[in-house]
Amino acid sequence: MPKIIHYRKKCIGCNICFELWPLRWRISRKDGKCTLIDGIEKKGIWQVEISDNEYTDNLRVAKACPVKIIKLSI
Ligand code: SF4
Repeated sequence: MPKIIHYRKKCIGCNICFELWPLRWRISRKDGKCTLIDGIEKKGIWQVEISDNEYTDNLRVAKACPVKIIKLSI
């Protein structure tokens, strides 16, 4: 199963991920950084397994992130 890995600490809250794929990303009202929906945190790094169908859309998100803190693994 593909996985999204999000290095949230370095997020600058630009909102691009949310605009491209709101089913998986949203901006937190608490700190203005984006949150990986359904992600599980381990040592400041958030991860979630996704379906194959969601892979391409999140790859587009990862490429668009200006600080390159979203990674995808297969
Ligand atoms: S695109 Fe990157 S920097 Fe911008 S809000 Fe999303 S994770 Fe944060």
